[in-house]
Amino acid sequence: MATERSTFLLDETQIPTQWYNLVPDLPAPPPPPLHPGTREPVGPDDLAPLFPMALIQQEVTADQYVDIPGGVLDVYRIWRPSPLVRARRLEKLLDTPAKIFFKYEGVSPAGSHKPNTAVPQAFYNAQEGIRKLTTETGAGQWGTALAFATAQYGMECEVWQVRSSYDQKPARRTMMEIYGATLHPSPSDLTEAGRTILAADPDSTGSLGIAISEAVEAALQADDARYALGSVLNHVLLHQTVIGQEALIQLEMAEAVPDVIVGCTGGGSNFGGLAFPFIREKLAGRMDPVIRCVEPAACPSLTRGEYRYDFGDTIGMTPLLKMHTLGHGFIPDPIHAGGLRYHGMAPLVSHVYELGLAEAEAIPQLECFQAALMFARTQGIVPAPEPTHAIAAAIREAKRCKESGEEKTILTALCGHGHLDTAAYDAYLHGTMQDLDFPEDELRAAMDAVPVL
Ligand SMILES: *Cc1c(COP(=O)(O)O)cnc(C)c1O
Repeated sequence: MATERSTFLLDETQIPTQWYNLVPDLPAPPPPPLHPGTREPVGPDDLAPLFPMALIQQEVTADQYVDIPGGVLDVYRIWRPSPLVRARRLEKLLDTPAKIFFKYEGVSPAGSHKPNTAVPQAFYNAQEGIRKLTTETGAGQWGTALAFATAQYGMECEVWQVRSSYDQKPARRTMMEIYGATLHPSPSDLTEAGRTILAADPDSTGSLGIAISEAVEAALQADDARYALGSVLNHVLLHQTVIGQEALIQLEMAEAVPDVIVGCTGGGSNFGGLAFPFIREKLAGRMDPVIRCVEPAACPSLTRGEYRYDFGDTIGMTPLLKMHTLGHGFIPDPIHAGGLRYHGMAPLVSHVYELGLAEAEAIPQLECFQAALMFARTQGIVPAPEPTHAIAAAIREAKRCKESGEEKTILTALCGHGHLDTAAYDAYLHGTMQDLDFPEDELRAAMDAVPVL
């Protein structure tokens, strides 16, 4: 009766014991990060003030697999493996011959996929004697995940939360404080970066790029503190591959092979985590899914940005990363999917896109929330604003299947729940949410400030 099932569960013994690194399997390696001063490839010593050696090694490793330490698996066991669910009730509503599967990462303590990397990042820092981690948070999910993870290893956590989110999301603030973190709204007057921004605009509502500048600066000022990033970097995407590795086993249980994989992309980590093990299968000729990144129409780094070296933060302190970017000075409109409001895309996801191994589409937020309501009213789970983009893309695909009669298998990641994002739903339900025009002139201005190498 396997084909009648809707939920595909694994047990603890099936948590992956290694992370999968896509890099050695690619036909060409991704371009290296460059030092912001010398513009030469960065070496481990350049990164040592920011990250522990174990993570720096993972950032550049050529190994196809990296062992997951026991001390990380012990914490993963709190919520992993996560379920794979066939959205039969949504399929029925859509009257589609397509099969829609979602890998549900909202079962983690923080309610998103972010703890998959927060936990190992805290673990390796603790092992190297680091006492405190600094970070930024936009929507609040990453800060929550890191606060939870640092608590597991007895570390301190200091979070710069983008001002607009700090003011609008008191529940997120409380979550982080419950786990023991210290919070600051960003821009703050605690850092040179924050003071610079505030001098130019005292009412700045902040951005992820500004908050990154502040958290990086704070980490550089203390010997026993390091910085943690929740997306974009290779080691983050590496840690997230537990998602796709589990999904591969679960789809096999469901006797299904994906034809289309869609994932929402902010910095690219949940997408990479889901898709990279499937790209491995695709490159090996074992399956041939179409793989698609879905981004907000208001922050379309893949579909509208340029592929070139740019800074990861607003001030220009981070290494230069070769990535699809809207310009490090670009401040996206305050759409409700705060986790997708980042000017750049992971270098590895950008590279995979350049190689033609993934495609991309941008969807405006009203369509996303309309899709989310269909999902919530059939499957019951209220999605976080970010994966509403993936759900909208899955529904577009399922509707095309209805027209063509194709019985495609669609896979996506429901990378978080929206229990703390009800204000966004309130705006949608009461008609105050709008689709925002993409500011072409602001894009041009931001691109003009990207360094010419
Ligand atoms: C942070 C976050 C995102 C965006 O980050 P990615 O690195 O692109 O995954 C998307 N969804 C949720 C639920 C998040 O917390």
